[in-house]
Amino acid sequence: MAETMPNWLKKRAELSPDRVALIFEEHAYTYQQVFEKAKWYAGKLEALGLKKGGTAAVLFSNQAEAVFILYALQMAGIRVVILNHRLTAEELVWQLDDSQATVLVYETRFNGKVSEVPANARKISTKDLLETNGITPFILDEYELNEVTSIMYTSGTTGNPKGVMQTYGNHWWSTNASALNLGLHVHDKWLCTVPIFHISGYSILMRGQIYGMPIVLHSSFDEKKVLEDIGRYDITILSVVSTMLRRIIDRMGENKLPDSFRCMLLGGGPATLPLLQACLEKEIPVFQTYGMTETSSQVVTLSPEYSMERLGSAGKALFPNQIQIVNDAGEIVPPGAEGEIIVKGPNVTAGYLNRPEETADKIRDSWLYTGDIGYIDDQGFLYVLDRRSDLIISGGENIYPAEIEGVLQSHPGVADAGVIGMSDEQWGQMPVAFIVKKESGLRGEDLFAFCERKLAKYKVPKKVYFVDRLPRNAAKKLLRRTLREWLEAERDESEH
Ligand code: ATP
Ligand code: MG
Repeated sequence: MAETMPNWLKKRAELSPDRVALIFEEHAYTYQQVFEKAKWYAGKLEALGLKKGGTAAVLFSNQAEAVFILYALQMAGIRVVILNHRLTAEELVWQLDDSQATVLVYETRFNGKVSEVPANARKISTKDLLETNGITPFILDEYELNEVTSIMYTSGTTGNPKGVMQTYGNHWWSTNASALNLGLHVHDKWLCTVPIFHISGYSILMRGQIYGMPIVLHSSFDEKKVLEDIGRYDITILSVVSTMLRRIIDRMGENKLPDSFRCMLLGGGPATLPLLQACLEKEIPVFQTYGMTETSSQVVTLSPEYSMERLGSAGKALFPNQIQIVNDAGEIVPPGAEGEIIVKGPNVTAGYLNRPEETADKIRDSWLYTGDIGYIDDQGFLYVLDRRSDLIISGGENIYPAEIEGVLQSHPGVADAGVIGMSDEQWGQMPVAFIVKKESGLRGEDLFAFCERKLAKYKVPKKVYFVDRLPRNAAKKLLRRTLREWLEAERDESEH
């Protein structure tokens, strides 16, 4: 028998109708109001032919209406393919085709971009929705935990993005795992400035309805507004990636965050040592996390009390999760040894949409092979080193580009840094760096000397290329595969 739960938003509206659910641009909505709004939209979507078991792609920014529509689709049992509005029209078309979504619901402000998308998917704007007469909606009384509710594409850092299927159960367990880790406080308020089209933001929407906790939603990240709202609404938890945290710290100056603020949840990628030290100085309670779209949010977290003692660690697996490190033969390696990180737990995806082979390759015996390399120390703390596909092997030594990038980024004259391996007859591979300057006088020699003080000799980049900008994807992640293409082109040119 399939496991079921009552419809989350309906249940929440029954339990605490008058509690604030959402605050967006000065407007506060209670759970009852959010439930009514979501039902109202469900009636319109259903009037336009969408129904339970169907799939709709959506293209939204962080807006209250987007939250209502996402809840509406979830309650109506319509699977949602959540698209990233920062993608180009071409990338959108690719994801629409790949997902085989036949309907695209989009925010009217993206009219321009959507007009470039060929019409094989039916397009419904939020304006169309407002002009449609709704019907009495069908909404689910129960959620089947193994049913897929959302499909979200990975960032496409290592190759083409893959559609990750997330079930109601995945979100339920991820939400629980987070609560068991951070605790659930009566006065909790979560500030969401990360995109709701990513798991970082969407998972906050899931937690809001399940915890009965107000979400303060920002349309985009603005450190000034973040600091104002932390004070104004007594925010207790904020999700950030490291570039956001850096901007918040710079903006804070000598100020401290209020005592009521209890958790800065830092994820998405590695955190640098200077950033963590700055958090310590400013007494920011930073929780480092490791997770991915496939795990429906974080699976490993480090509490602030360990942030210096276990510097650079992503922490321990959350309560429902297990992690292991395996070698190329798939054997579990001893503590301290490096290998691929594999994770298991009820928040791990059921698989990739329309990709049975990739699913079978990445999920074996319920363990997800993350493609990330790391090690677990003798106390069970995980250290994430880098992606397997980006590993540089030089004279038999493993070199992790992220470590070198962290050092280069800590140089005051560097605005951005990317490192890849260059093939080398003697050593197999050697690291080379692509640098965006902050100070125009910066020279390659300065960086070599700086790295020689901080890194073992074999890790010091052998060449530095100065560039105007680094290739980053819509999630702002560095595309090292593009750097490899740049290097190829550079080498071809120098050979002719
Ligand atoms: P794709 O799978 O398409 O290449 P992606 O892996 O970048 O894209 P996401 O699911 O958004 O897509 O990102 C998850 C990845 O981010 C992880 O697998 C890992 O490589 C990286 N990451 C997340 N947290 C950390 C962390 N704390 N330290 C280092 N890397 C991290
Ligand atoms: Mg990935």
